[in-house]
Amino acid sequence: MSDSTTETTAEEALEEEVEAGADADAREAELDPETAARRKAALAQIRQFGDPVLRTKARAIDRFDDALREEIERMGHLMDDAVGVGLAATQVGVVHRLLVYRVQQGAELAALINPEVEWSGRDTESMEEGCLSLPGVLVDVDRPVYVRVRALNERGEPIMIEASGLEARVIQHEIDHLDGVLILDRTSREQRKEAMRSMREAQQAA
Ligand code: ZN
Repeated sequence: MSDSTTETTAEEALEEEVEAGADADAREAELDPETAARRKAALAQIRQFGDPVLRTKARAIDRFDDALREEIERMGHLMDDAVGVGLAATQVGVVHRLLVYRVQQGAELAALINPEVEWSGRDTESMEEGCLSLPGVLVDVDRPVYVRVRALNERGEPIMIEASGLEARVIQHEIDHLDGVLILDRTSREQRKEAMRSMREAQQAA
């Protein structure tokens, strides 16, 4: 297999992943071995369901220094390695209000600090979401299609984002993480039960 073929395979997997929405869950079988290994190593650094930190409400950030910018960079690399499209600081055990995301391949990494949904449109859409903290779980989540979000950038300057579709979904998913909310809380009772069962089975199999 040539390098370019391998690359295409990874890209295709990533595209499918992006279609599935949220902070992610590419099936490992669809990734080339190198990407799959990198993803596995990244997931080992991401807090998994059952870790109480995922249920913790993160506090506001008031220091905009090099340490914060390095943290953003580290989270971006981790998210890429995990083949995710978003990551919240709480998912790496840092309980403050920072999230990163990138919904379009090749785009610059977006970082939002102290994000607040200022407005959300009345239209909602249900879409399948995965989460790096819940590998193997995909559930339907209903969310507003349009949101306006106020936040600070890495230098502490106010920014405003008008997002729709997948970007809006990812931002809302990551803000949920900062509030200790998971996709299991936003899906139907049946899908939650099914997800819990499949996670238990995966744990027992491991
Ligand atoms: Zn998530």
